[in-house]
Amino acid sequence: MDLAFSPEDRAFYEHVRETLKAGLPADIEQKERLGQRLGKEDMLRWQDVLARHNWLAAGWPKEYGGPGFNATRRYLFEQAYGSLYAPPPVQFGITMVGPVIYNYANEEQKARFLPPIRENKVWWCQGYSEPGAGSDLASLKTRAVREGDHYIVNGQKTWTTWAHWADWMFCLVKTDTSCKPQAGISFLLIDMKTPGISVRPIKTIDGDHEVNEVFLENVKVPAENLIGAEGAGWGYGKALLEHERFIMSGSARSRRNLKTLREDIAPGSVFEARIAELEIELKALEFLELRLLSSMNAGGNPGPRASALKIRGTEISQAVTRLRLDMLGPDAAPVSQGFMEADGAEPAGLPHAAMALPTYLNLRKLTIWGGSNEIQRMVMAKATLGL
Ligand SMILES: Cc1cc2nc3c(=O)[nH]c(=O)nc-3n(C[C@H](O)[C@H](O)[C@H](O)COP(=O)(O)OP(=O)(O)OC[C@H]3O[C@@H](n4cnc5c(N)ncnc54)[C@H](O)[C@@H]3O)c2cc1C
Repeated sequence: MDLAFSPEDRAFYEHVRETLKAGLPADIEQKERLGQRLGKEDMLRWQDVLARHNWLAAGWPKEYGGPGFNATRRYLFEQAYGSLYAPPPVQFGITMVGPVIYNYANEEQKARFLPPIRENKVWWCQGYSEPGAGSDLASLKTRAVREGDHYIVNGQKTWTTWAHWADWMFCLVKTDTSCKPQAGISFLLIDMKTPGISVRPIKTIDGDHEVNEVFLENVKVPAENLIGAEGAGWGYGKALLEHERFIMSGSARSRRNLKTLREDIAPGSVFEARIAELEIELKALEFLELRLLSSMNAGGNPGPRASALKIRGTEISQAVTRLRLDMLGPDAAPVSQGFMEADGAEPAGLPHAAMALPTYLNLRKLTIWGGSNEIQRMVMAKATLGL
């Protein structure tokens, strides 16, 4: 951190960093450092620590029980957090459905759904994507038909991260097929225990099970679980994306990972130049973040520049994992079956060898999810070039 912040802001950064460091369980820190998989229990244990400081829903306004950070504090919080080997909190409740609820839901829904998110009591998943509706999300087909005081939902969602651990799913569904696609989409909250829901795992290229297919067959959802107006769901879903992308650059974690790479190379290594190149790109990204921050503090929205952050941030994150692979060479090949589930031992003399390849493969997702980077380039082109 060598950017120009006030002494109070710097003190805030240090306070957050020291508090998080002190509260981070050693076994979770070790797993995160080595890139090992964290289970649901690990995540809940860490998120309990965050919730105790009221830092789980770090972006929420005071009015809804959050810490009410301004944009600068929010940024510094993320920087302090990302400088540690602390797992990022699961975003679906906190940065996705939470803000939709406090911005668009009725008072009853706010009182029912917000406290359990803030207090780490409920696990959400995101039911947007479908087979044939990813980038072109408006063409989604999952149908919700109103019958009295319920909706009957039929359809299929896919790539649903951690649906197998989720208590609830926020879902985009079609409630009207007679109008233009966007206007017929509604935002519905679905209890994952409702009869008619089945979750099937998708195994990804790194061998992990994060994502799923979710099938909905005559699922009866109380109409009181509809957020806002019927047919207005597209607007709600879109409104939060700019804000979400603002914190998707992962710059603090990239800086942390580059620092670790530096510690692992011998002086004069041929990899020094590549590390320096990435450090320069990262510095440029950080200045872009700060420019955005100053316009947000002046009351503006992140706007299409949030897409630039997402593109550059995710590309740099991926480049760091690529560099780690290149540094290890053949040693990056899987060294021992079952290492990813083991308790933290590392092969002697090969720092990060066991996690390098699975991490590289896992992070391919960064340039796809949250709106692919190609789509982000289209967003920027349309907004800034008027295409
Ligand atoms: C690991 C992982 C986890 C995910 N978790 C979730 C989740 O929890 N919930 C959820 O709802 N979704 C989730 N997703 C889905 C994700 O949002 C979609 O994968 C993403 O929106 C892209 O959609 P698609 O996979 O259907 O690809 P497609 O839309 O078919 O795109 C394929 C390729 O074509 C490009 N492309 C498409 N249209 C254009 C265009 N107009 N111009 C230029 N290029 C274009 C894309 O950039 C991409 O490279 C997850 C995805 C991954 C990989």
